Amino acid sequence: MKAFDRKHIWHPYTSITDPLPAYPVARAEGVRLQLEDGRELIDGMSSWWCAIHGYNHPVLNDAARSQLEQMAHVMFGGLTHEPAIRLAERLIEITPESLRYIFFSDSGSVSVEIALKMAVQYWHNLGKPAKRCMLTVRGGYHGDTFGAMSVCDPVTGMHSLFGGIVQEQLFAPRPETPFGEALRDGDTDELQVLFEENHAQIAAVILEPVVQGAGGMWFYSADYLRTVARLCKEYDVLLILDEIATGFGRAGKLFAAEYADIEADILCLGKALTGGYLSLAATLANDRIRDGISANEGILMHGPTFMGNPLACSIASASVDLLLESNWQGRVSRIETRLQTELGKYRDHPGVSDVRVLGAIGVVELDSDIDVAEVQKRFVEAGVWIRPFGKLVYLMPPYVIGEDDLTRLTAAVELALERD
Ligand code: PMP
Repeated sequence: MKAFDRKHIWHPYTSITDPLPAYPVARAEGVRLQLEDGRELIDGMSSWWCAIHGYNHPVLNDAARSQLEQMAHVMFGGLTHEPAIRLAERLIEITPESLRYIFFSDSGSVSVEIALKMAVQYWHNLGKPAKRCMLTVRGGYHGDTFGAMSVCDPVTGMHSLFGGIVQEQLFAPRPETPFGEALRDGDTDELQVLFEENHAQIAAVILEPVVQGAGGMWFYSADYLRTVARLCKEYDVLLILDEIATGFGRAGKLFAAEYADIEADILCLGKALTGGYLSLAATLANDRIRDGISANEGILMHGPTFMGNPLACSIASASVDLLLESNWQGRVSRIETRLQTELGKYRDHPGVSDVRVLGAIGVVELDSDIDVAEVQKRFVEAGVWIRPFGKLVYLMPPYVIGEDDLTRLTAAVELALERD
């Protein structure tokens, strides 16, 4: 089986002819992944931000089972159902009051495509078709489909390879002021110039609030976001916030934009939305977007096959309820404190250039690229699941992780710091 996998199945961001090793998992429960050979690994990744409640959760399993007995899926064209309506009500309730309209889709990347489409269509309908370009910052990540790629960091997003296919957008430098600091002089200067010179062409700004995830796990000042929101108003540009990674408590607030007390015109959610059970995403919009898109009898031309999938929506409602009924803030802040203390010890380690922690995210940045295959092997042998990328080893465990398990994860990080 493993040989078949290696020969025929593409895995993320690795070669098909000489792939990085993939470890077969047989089951997962709580914060543990069980490999087929019987070894158990403590999960430090939440399956890329998703499994906030841990795996095989009885409440989410029940939600899946009872929905399955009604229907797994029906088309959303011309039909509707309680799972989608309930989830929509819930998401509208927990996000800023102005976001009242929701578009369900099947993945984060698609929800970003929809957000971009909404922004372009908005200006087109209002008689300003020249406003069709996006402004963003370097170091961002918004997904792997072409529209989303166009607003990812141009270098890590490999824009040169897809020149002429990926739309050219406007990029300000990566926000340099770290989270928790007042905006440093000059940090928004280039951004300001881009607004001044191009506002007639800019449909929207798109950003990951406070935490830049897959583009480098960088935490930046909430002041930066406030400045962006102010400039958007000043220059009549829409604001799209991508909380696909940060949503549902990961960065210490239910939504990271709360740190800056700003509201988006369009908000993208995904990942932890279903607690890691199924792929589901949502794009939320305010009255301004609704009215703009509907002007001149306009309609949003989008309709994924699995839009509003009942199974995913039921699990998502159960996951959101589970989160809000739990003491998630207490859990996330307990994780934060422990990550700060235990990862903080690596700050002076040779080869470590930075250690940063925000909410239930802990990052150790090295000064050179990590040999992923080798370090991954060490982690697995030590009984932990931590997946480094580039120069980064990072932890974002399920919120339900216990203190001892968390300490095993932070202790294991040292294995990535040993060279040879
Ligand atoms: N936006 C952000 C901020 C993300 O972290 C991701 C996924 N890593 C995406 C969008 C894309 O989501 P998906 O992988 O579900 O398409």
